[in-house]
This record gives sequence, structure tokens and C-alpha cells, in this order.
Amino acid sequence: CGIVGVLGQHEVAPVLVEALKRLEYRGYDSAGIATVTDGRITRRRAVGKLANLSDLLVHQPLRGQVGIGHTRWATHGAATEANAHPHTGHGVAVVHNGIIENYRSLSEGLAEQGLVPQSQTDTEIVALLIGAQLAAGLAPADAVAAVLPQLHGAFALCMIFDGYDDLMICARRGSPLVIGHGEGEMFVGSDAIALAPLTDRLTYLDEGDWAVLTRAGAVIHDADGVVVTRVQQRVALDQ
Ligand code: GLU
Repeated sequence: CGIVGVLGQHEVAPVLVEALKRLEYRGYDSAGIATVTDGRITRRRAVGKLANLSDLLVHQPLRGQVGIGHTRWATHGAATEANAHPHTGHGVAVVHNGIIENYRSLSEGLAEQGLVPQSQTDTEIVALLIGAQLAAGLAPADAVAAVLPQLHGAFALCMIFDGYDDLMICARRGSPLVIGHGEGEMFVGSDAIALAPLTDRLTYLDEGDWAVLTRAGAVIHDADGVVVTRVQQRVALDQ
């Protein structure tokens, strides 16, 4: 339901939770964040209000300067901690808005490789597919490029990777996603409102686009993988 991503210069966990709060008005049943800490993905998830996630983070803080966050409105699988995002595959964490229509047939292919989901969500299948490509030796952007064409349905995705503390990849098809440009920082949101206190320089992704973000900026690809330029606009939103 709500996606945020931050490639920051400071600890991102509190920034992610604040940005998720700005998306609370959309409704949600659970929430979670993941960061890259000492080269490894770590996540915290909680059912119910964001306050539950905040409380968890007080007792089990999450360090790291790159991270993704999600407020979930369940479509596939009950509102449980195991179904809350981010979902992980080998070397990747994924947050997702929307529905992967063909997740059942995709999961049959994964079962043949011995990959068994830990949740009932359509989202985890995306994480497992990308993880399988990473395990086969592909670089993150190549792994994402290999998996996106296999997905049917409407989605916005944002991902981080083990061993990469200056990388975030996002994609959209049928679900909105905006990139925010900071000073040596980059942001992703499913709604510009989430990014309002962080930056007013925004690039809206077009249908089918996916983007590779580092702190230096964004390289945007269209659905055919061609590198494209999308307009960067100044959008002053009420904070
Ligand atoms: N289909 C996904 C799920 O049920 C994402 C739902 C959402 O957009 O929050 O976990």
C-alpha cells in the first residue's frame, strides 16, 4: 500500500518510519522496514499500527544508511508478521504495492529449484525470483532486469541488496512511484507526500520504468531496458 526508500547520509530507520507515517492516511494492516547493516540486510516487521513497529525498533534498533519501508494492505495472505513486507530472497529485500497475478505459476517454477516461500504473499515470489538470479551470479540490476518481464499484474517495487550500501532499485507498472533527489541522498516513494519533508525535487517514473539509484543519482530504464531521461520537477508540497 505504501512504499518508501532512502539512500541516506545518516541512519535511515527513523526517516523511513516518519515517511511511512505520512502514508498512514491510506490505511494499512502491518508495516516493516529493512536496511543494509554491515553489508547485510536486516528487517523489522510488526502487525498493526506504525507505533508497534516504532516500539519494536526501540528495543531492536536497525542501523544502516540505506533502507526500504512498507505499510501493507493485504491482498494475498492474512495480516501477520510473516506476511508483512519487506520480503527477502537470497541477497535481496523487496517491498511491493499491488498484485503479482501469476505468482502461483511462478512459485511452481521456484519449487522445482527447492525454493519454498515463508509467507502466503505474492510479493515473496518476486524476492525469491530475484534472489535466485543473484545466487546464479547476476549483478543486482541484471537480476531485476531478468525478473521484471516474468511478472504479470500491477506493481510498484523497491529493493535493497546484501553487500550494497549505495544501491536501491525500484520499478513500476500500473502503480505509482516517484524518485526524490536530495543532496547526496536519494529517495523513493509511492506517493510524493511521503517525501515532502525530504526533498522537493521529484522525478515521476513512467509506466514500465525501472531505476537504479545510487547516492550520485538515478539511471532510469524503460520497459525495454533502454536508458531514458524523465523530467525532474520541483514540487513544493505542504509539510
Ligand atoms: N499483494 C501484496 C501483499 O498482499 C501487497 C499489498 C499492498 O499493496 O500493500 O502483501
